[in-house]
This record gives sequence, C-alpha cells and structure tokens, in this order.
Amino acid sequence: MRIVIVGGGVMGCATALELANRGVCDVVVLERAVPGAEASSAAAGMLAAQIESRDEAELVQFVRAREAYAGWAVALREATGIDIAHRRSGVLSIARTDKDLERAHHDVEAQRAWGLRAEVVDGTRARTIERELCEGIAGAAYYPDEAQVDPPQLLRALVVAASKAGVVMRAGATVSTLVSEGGRCVGVSLAPNEILRGDAVVLAAGSWSSLVPGVPADLPRVRPVRGQLVLLEERPPRAGTIVFEGHSYVVPRGDGRVVCGSTMEDVGHRREVTAAGVQSILTAAIAVMPRLGEAELVRSWCNFRPSVASASGAPLVGASALPGLFLATGHHRNGILLAKATADAVADAILKAAAP
Ligand SMILES: Cc1cc2nc3c(=O)[nH]c(=O)nc-3n(C[C@H](O)[C@H](O)[C@H](O)COP(=O)(O)OP(=O)(O)OC[C@H]3O[C@@H](n4cnc5c(N)ncnc54)[C@H](O)[C@@H]3O)c2cc1C
Repeated sequence: MRIVIVGGGVMGCATALELANRGVCDVVVLERAVPGAEASSAAAGMLAAQIESRDEAELVQFVRAREAYAGWAVALREATGIDIAHRRSGVLSIARTDKDLERAHHDVEAQRAWGLRAEVVDGTRARTIERELCEGIAGAAYYPDEAQVDPPQLLRALVVAASKAGVVMRAGATVSTLVSEGGRCVGVSLAPNEILRGDAVVLAAGSWSSLVPGVPADLPRVRPVRGQLVLLEERPPRAGTIVFEGHSYVVPRGDGRVVCGSTMEDVGHRREVTAAGVQSILTAAIAVMPRLGEAELVRSWCNFRPSVASASGAPLVGASALPGLFLATGHHRNGILLAKATADAVADAILKAAAP
C-alpha cells in the first residue's frame, strides 16, 4: 500500500511516521520546500490545552493531546536522540482588574469540575510562581500542567524518525494537482510532469491546502491567519513560566530564550514582519515581564496558521467525501498540540478504509 502525503509540516511528518510505525512500508512525503519550512517550525510550541480550548469537547480533546506528549517526546528521543524540549512550564493567565479576576474564577471552577489542576492566585502568589511578573495585577489563573516543546526540534525529530522508519521525504517536490479517476483520488501530479499514484493521498498542506488544484470544491476553505513572533534572549536566564494576557503571550524556554507573540492577522500570505506587529508584541511582553526590556532582541518572524472557514472552525481530519483523499489540515492555533492525535486519527481512517 502506498500513501502519498502532500506537505511536510508537523501534520504530514507526524502522519507519515505513524503510518510507518504501524507497518505501512511505502509512505512518501512531498514537500515543496524543506520539511518544517512553514508554520510548524515557526510556532511558539505551547501545549496550552486549558487556555486554548473554547468548550468542554475541545477541553477534553486538547488535554488528552497534551498528556500524550510526554510519551511521544520519550519515543522520539529514543528513536532519534533528539530532545524536543518537552517541559511542563505551566501557564499564568494574568488578571489586571477585579473584573478579569471574576472571569478567571469562572474559568478555573469550570476546569476543576473536569478534574483538571487550576487555581486563582493573588498577585503576590503569582510572583512567587514567576518572579519576573509585573507588579500591580489583581491576580492570575494558574494552570500548572500546561506544557511546551521546541517546534524546530520537534520537526527535526519527526523527519529523522520517519526517515529511519522508511518514509521517503522528498524536498523541493511541489504538488501541482491531485489526480482523481472515476470519483476517486488516485495520486498527485508533480511539476514538471510526474504522476505519483497512491492508494491514499493525505492533504497536509497547511494554510495552502485550499490552493492545491484538484481539492474538492465543497471542502471548507483553509485560510491563512498570519502570526508574528519575536525571540528575545535574557542573560542570565530568569523567566520560567508561560504568561498570557489576552492573545499576547511570553514563552520562556528555560535557557534564556523567550518567545513573545503574537498577532492574528487576516492579510493572506503576505510574508512580512511589520513595525506595528513587533511594537504590539514587545509592548505586551514588557508589560507582563518588565525586565524583558533589557533582553537582547534576537530575531523576529511570521507564518500562517491554517484556519478553517466554517462555523465551528474545527480542523479537517480523517476521511474526506472523495474516496482515496484523507485530510490533516486546518489546525489554526493548535497544530503542534494536536499533531500526534491527528496522526493517530488519520492513520486509523486510512487503515480502516483499506481493511477488507
Ligand atoms: C505565529 C504562530 C504561533 C503558533 N503557536 C502555536 C503554539 O504555540 N502551539 C500550537 O499548538 N500551535 C501553534 N501554532 C499553530 C501551528 O503552527 C499550526 O497549526 C501547525 O504548524 C500547522 O501544521 P501543518 O503541517 O498543517 O502546516 P505547515 O507547517 O504550514 O506545513 C504545510 C506544508 O505544506 C507545504 N506545501 C504547501 N503546498 C504544497 C504543495 N502544493 N506541494 C507540496 N508541499 C506543499 C508547505 O511548504 C508546508 O511546509 C502557531 C502558528 C503560528 C503561525
């Protein structure tokens, strides 16, 4: 059985590895640039299940995905020697005002009802958890089990593990169209004129998924939402806990690097880091951790969250209405968190469809 995967981001690579680990011996990942070239290596790497979930169904799914990471990190290190820097650094979501604090109480109570660890802390206690935190806040919601990984390391580990397991990684391979025959997706065509046939094709082209010719017209559109990030470096390392305020966040890696983000911009695939974007990110970061103002500004970058234009915005995962075509795309702000869970679901769907 040959599986052809379009796109070598976290979704394509994780799905390829999962299939190879389950004994599928002919898996090809087609990546127009190099694996991990886009959103997946650009992400902040938070596994922020409790902060990011919008309802109870997502909370359960996200927490399960977060908890699966510990074992996955060990398995990837054993297979490759690469450490993806999985760390339960916890999240403080700060409340500036009494009204924010009321909301924090509400969120925390809802999560505790699900048996999750969460508490509302006052400003003094928040600063004992994260000594770099600003003064003058009403308090914070504290989620000690939230975690993080280092996305470029994750992508390296996935590529090495998948290659060792027999997956063929083709860089510089642009899929020019999906090929369908008799109402079934049977492969892809590659520029200039190669056809690669497969028993299943997996669409994992991130925010470009709707731009691949041949994608069924009735599939919800995946659109890009640009996010900018800034990397600071503290010497010596000081901050240790992820801090959120609204959509702004500060993610200390624990070694002095601090990733600050992010913007949410509807600007198509315009690949620009903007003055206003960096200004807003740095203003928010320094407001929550004032000593970041002394840190070195190392670099800034942007990339595109693949966001599904549907009422729920839920990612597109598993079998599609077109036989032979499977989906692993549209994970918006949580693709790193959901990578392994998605790979499992897509592998299940492919193997189920192939079963006699
Ligand atoms: C600024 C920012 C911060 C983020 N932070 C987090 C976070 O903290 N936690 C989290 O869980 N998620 C985060 N995300 C979201 C996460 O990065 C994405 O959801 C995830 O990386 C999407 O993975 P993907 O494989 O679908 O897409 P991508 O990584 O974009 O991969 C798609 C690949 O397909 C390739 N491709 C496209 N078209 C073709 C074609 N025709 N032929 C061949 N190849 C093609 C592209 O070159 C690309 O490499 C963040 C995203 C951004 C932008």
